Amino acid sequence: MSERERTRSSLSEAAETPVRRQRILVVEDEPDIVRGLRDALEFEGYEVVDHAEGHKAVREMKERGADVVILDLMLPDINGYQVCEEIRAFNQLVPIIILSARGQELDKIRGLSAGADDYVTKPFSIGELLARIQAILRRLGRSAASHTEVIRIGNCEVNLKKHTLSRARKTIPLTFYEVELLKLLHERAEQPVSRDEILDKIWGIQAHPSNRTVDNFVVKLRKKLEENQHHPKHILTVYGYGYKLVP
Ligand code: CA
Repeated sequence: MSERERTRSSLSEAAETPVRRQRILVVEDEPDIVRGLRDALEFEGYEVVDHAEGHKAVREMKERGADVVILDLMLPDINGYQVCEEIRAFNQLVPIIILSARGQELDKIRGLSAGADDYVTKPFSIGELLARIQAILRRLGRSAASHTEVIRIGNCEVNLKKHTLSRARKTIPLTFYEVELLKLLHERAEQPVSRDEILDKIWGIQAHPSNRTVDNFVVKLRKKLEENQHHPKHILTVYGYGYKLVP
């Protein structure tokens, strides 16, 4: 088959089996931001659905779902934290990126503890947000294709496909980034992994305004994983550097 024929046949195959476009839910009430996001995301080939109100966004997630949620904190009805918690009550897996105002460190921490995975600071560059979304979707694709299903840490069993952690006959749901973080630390068990490397490999970004994202996820994971979160035996802090997993 010639190069041209190959190209033609792969093109027609692509035409015959349409790939489902990845769906991004934008929850934001500022029309200019919605318009900017919609243009950029649609240009990249994503399907975009937007809602200005939190309740409608939660209903959208229940009824139709999305691959990624971009969530503003200040909405006309309920705030973004509530939207996040309500979505997390029935969907642990969907990655949620919060849009927060500049310098509002507390907003970010509260957002992450409400179940968000990442945040960008307003005013943000569309390019940065796109990079985050693409990094998330790449990791989701990779974890769907991975063969390992269960890892053991202490007396816990972490199911990488179901996104659950089981301990003493209790099953606790894990969010997407909690699983990714555990996976990375487990691959490098007994070795310290730096915060910068974690941010780079999991969040897919190098210059992050704050390293606390990683620390926040570790706090949440310790609550779920450790017998005593204040005296962790499995996720250990390597002072001034990062973390180490002892399985
Ligand atoms: Ca707003």
